[in-house]
Amino acid sequence: MQTEAMPIHTTVTTASQLANLDLDNLQFGKVFADHMLVVDYADGAWQDPQIVPYGPIEVSPATAALHYGQALFEGMKAYKTVDGQVVLFRPRDNWARMNESAKRLCMPEIPEEIFMEGLKQLISIDADWVPQRQGYSLYIRPFMFGSEGLLGVRPANSYKFIIFCSPASSYYAEPVRVKIEEYYTRAVEGGFGYAKAAGNYGGSLLPAKLAGEQGFHQIIWTDGREHNYIEESGTMNVMFVIDGTLVTPALSTSILAGITRDSVLTLARDWGMKVEERRIPIQEVVDAYAAGKLQDAFGTGTAATIAHIKSITFRDQEMELPPLAEREFSNRVSKELDAIRYGQAPDPHVWVVPV
Ligand code: PMP
Repeated sequence: MQTEAMPIHTTVTTASQLANLDLDNLQFGKVFADHMLVVDYADGAWQDPQIVPYGPIEVSPATAALHYGQALFEGMKAYKTVDGQVVLFRPRDNWARMNESAKRLCMPEIPEEIFMEGLKQLISIDADWVPQRQGYSLYIRPFMFGSEGLLGVRPANSYKFIIFCSPASSYYAEPVRVKIEEYYTRAVEGGFGYAKAAGNYGGSLLPAKLAGEQGFHQIIWTDGREHNYIEESGTMNVMFVIDGTLVTPALSTSILAGITRDSVLTLARDWGMKVEERRIPIQEVVDAYAAGKLQDAFGTGTAATIAHIKSITFRDQEMELPPLAEREFSNRVSKELDAIRYGQAPDPHVWVVPV
């Protein structure tokens, strides 16, 4: 049941790269689908969207985003169900979150119709780029930046909103060794950690690199004020199962409101599990471990859905978590979310949106 689609001027590529797509040797983020959606903001209004062949864009060296950081992005995926239908997972939540980020960075909000219709028409034209294989998907990267060539710290007058896509293989990550970070800070209360601002990621690279040199895969970020409370894990939200209760940090201005996070909490509540969203002192995790009550720890995010944590290091103590086979909840929720996305399980919350 399609209502009348918003007209989008489309230039179809004459040099499709689809024939070169090798799903068996896919390197994430290196291959891009044939088309992209481009929408300019100028003179106080969003201009007509266009779908064009994927390719370089020209910007001024004075481009506002490159100097003053008005740049934000989203990350989401399209899946091909077992029936061959192309679907999106909770795309309106990405749209809404993008606008939260835009407000924080003094950037214009994107109307729902431009985001949703632009996205659907782009994914339709590149539907053959959505792999039909369990665990595979088409990663979708919407982003926006201040495109005005200007020197001067003020909000830009012109912006570009672009969506492009990259096929992604099954993301099987080994359980990760993480370190609780007590010096570096990802985000602070009153800052913009809740926005998917490019700058948040730039600032996290050095601490992540240093942790990597110490043999850790990821950092558990703590609050910027006291470094006493758990915040996120790398670029994922973080959850624990402590004595049968699912516990995760409450949302705040320093935590990104993950869509996977919300999906996991919703399913847990559906299943009658006790769920708590609140501040989590590091000491609580250490005490739960000592008491044998730390049953699970994992990150949640679009890339991996669930990233199991193998061990958590706090100062000089490495806390080993139970073997994967014993992690009932995280295994179940990971399977259930995949089953919903690939059309193999009921979708009671109507998360899946056909293209
Ligand atoms: N936190 C941060 C900092 C992130 O970059 C991401 C990835 N978008 C997440 C959490 C997880 O969010 P989502 O579940 O929407 O992918």
